[in-house]
Amino acid sequence: MPVPTSPPEVVDEVTLARYPFLPQATSWIRTMAVTHNIDLNELLDGPWMEKARQRARIRLIDSVQSKDGVQVIGGDIHTEEGRLVEAFSFYYARLVMCASEDERLIARWAQAEAARAEQLLIQDSVNLETIARTYVTEIEPVSDLTTGVRASSSMGMRELRQQRSTVWRIGLADFVEICPRITGQRWRLPNVDVEAGWVKLHDERQYASSAKLARLLRERIKSGIEADALEKMSEVTTDLAVRLAEPLGMVRNLMANKASEAIALVGAEESDWPPCMQKIIADLSSGVNVNHFGRLFLASMAATLALPQEACVGFFRGAPDFSEATTSYQVQHVYQHEYTPAGCGKLKVNHNCPVLPGDNRTCDQSWMDHPLKYIRATQRWRRLTAPAEPKPTDSAPDETPSPSPP
Ligand code: SF4
Repeated sequence: MPVPTSPPEVVDEVTLARYPFLPQATSWIRTMAVTHNIDLNELLDGPWMEKARQRARIRLIDSVQSKDGVQVIGGDIHTEEGRLVEAFSFYYARLVMCASEDERLIARWAQAEAARAEQLLIQDSVNLETIARTYVTEIEPVSDLTTGVRASSSMGMRELRQQRSTVWRIGLADFVEICPRITGQRWRLPNVDVEAGWVKLHDERQYASSAKLARLLRERIKSGIEADALEKMSEVTTDLAVRLAEPLGMVRNLMANKASEAIALVGAEESDWPPCMQKIIADLSSGVNVNHFGRLFLASMAATLALPQEACVGFFRGAPDFSEATTSYQVQHVYQHEYTPAGCGKLKVNHNCPVLPGDNRTCDQSWMDHPLKYIRATQRWRRLTAPAEPKPTDSAPDETPSPSPP
């Protein structure tokens, strides 16, 4: 089910500043720019927008360094200045990402902004429904089996408690479209309560229905932020890219450090790993979601190569949905059951083989049908091309016999 074409109206400026990625925020930000004389020059270099640029840097740094996404707490959005900082810091950060022309970087930033939105929405019972209706076509509250019906009376604590325990249901088509991007058994279709085309998001002791809705929304919000940035990428001129080179360089350096940290975890032999394995590791460390097949492949390769389990868990640390406990448990399961890593055919079918004909000489070989063969081939090649080691001898150096001529 596509995202609704006419989102509900949002006029509250605090809400628009809190969620500046909302489609409803675009015209508000434009009006703010006109009201406060904020043009591109002011945004990029002007003293008035200095705070917004500082907050944008934090947004960008968090998107690389924090597994929880962008820091929830920004300026005080109950003041006009705070709202300006929040709105234009998002706008500036998006400009920097667009200037990068790097889809992986954009995906990582979108993921971090969406993770921040999820954290806010879990607490935001007032706006959850409106924002849900912005991104999901079929969504509605249903009665709460534990505490009675949803609040409909006057404001107050009673209503607040009831609002928090609202149980939501989402259209099956929306659920089916979103859930493959989320890992965990509770998101698999056979494990959910489906009735008459609706999926009920049950309250669990540690996972409320509203939090589950916020989790689903995170995926749609991420896609929206990412699509917007990719679309606006073509509007970045060379001059603009040059003016954004400094903040962009900062993000690129952070990313480079992050990737080398992930790979250095497991020692020096990663140069032997096949492109499919390297790509999955790089994607995970950049916060790009990798499908279940790719994750299982990576864990089974790590087990086959006898990499330490902690190192394997470390590969997943940048994943958008990383949980130390869940990942450790799943990795342990793969190591214990000694799964055989999938072959090239299955990796290609499941979109986990990144090479095209001509990209990689070893992968191009007619006999190449398994990533383990790739490793054996590269190791053999390295042995053959390595400089010969001097043979050990019992003789003292000055007694070494001269080699016979051929
Ligand atoms: S051809 Fe095989 S070994 Fe090479 S990248 Fe694709 S799946 Fe991996």
